[in-house]
Amino acid sequence: MRTRKRLGQHFLADPRIARRIVEAADLRPEDIVLEIGPGRGALTRFLSERAARVLAVEIDEALVRQLAGRWPEGKVTLIAGDILKLNLAELLEREGISAPIRVFGNLPYHIATAILRHLLRFRAYLHDMTVMLQREVADRILSLPGSKSYGYLSILVQYYCEGQRLFTLPPSAFRPPPKVFSTVVHLRMRDRPAVDVLNEGFFFELVSALFAERRKTILNNLKRATARLRVNDLASVLQRAGLDPRRRAETLALEELAELTKVLVQARASTSGDDAELGEPTI
Ligand code: SAM
Repeated sequence: MRTRKRLGQHFLADPRIARRIVEAADLRPEDIVLEIGPGRGALTRFLSERAARVLAVEIDEALVRQLAGRWPEGKVTLIAGDILKLNLAELLEREGISAPIRVFGNLPYHIATAILRHLLRFRAYLHDMTVMLQREVADRILSLPGSKSYGYLSILVQYYCEGQRLFTLPPSAFRPPPKVFSTVVHLRMRDRPAVDVLNEGFFFELVSALFAERRKTILNNLKRATARLRVNDLASVLQRAGLDPRRRAETLALEELAELTKVLVQARASTSGDDAELGEPTI
């Protein structure tokens, strides 16, 4: 059967693995599920057995046609389209769904992080996400300070979610097999972010500036971003935040990043008089 590599099509070969992914998330009969990329329906089959309703977004219209009619419309709603362009808030309103929903997907690897970022913008509508990712991306999401894979993506996801690694699968679990191993992760939306940062937009700008060049010290990365961040007197700012300027961003815990954000936001407010232009997070 034809597969489209460009769309990251690697289909689960064994229904037992599909069932294991669905069972790992402890679905309840009243749950509403958003499935990303149902493909040939490997996960959809088990999701539809356990949840009240599945909204499945698939970009490949040929696959949507293949799946059409397999389940009653009230059970599985197939949506032909690009998940990255989906306005989830509008979809849920149109469908009369108010409860936080459960997200599932064996994600197309090349756009998996873009999909996570897109969905995090709609975090208020989500309960959790159970997603399969390339193993290295799962590592980046879940890693802790001090690890090589700790960076912007880890901080973004851990700020909003509690993450857990479920299990890893070899390439042979898929048809056609990808070149990489895959890991299923569970991300549960936090009731409130992991740390209090005063201003989320500025927090994420700061994190991106700190990680601009991983091998440089935090002082040097901040120096390069003074105009963008509108901050001066970096040495004293770092001292007030209790941070050694020679450290590297990959050693900073969320709490330390939050403390640095607070000190910087306050320093900006006292020099510029107002902070009006600080906006939405740039996720
Ligand atoms: N769920 C199926 C399975 O596990 O066998 C298929 C998983 S396959 C890794 C990824 C699926 O996502 C494919 O069906 C692909 O066509 C679909 N896809 C790729 N890009 C997409 C996008 N931007 N929006 C929605 N679906 C997409």
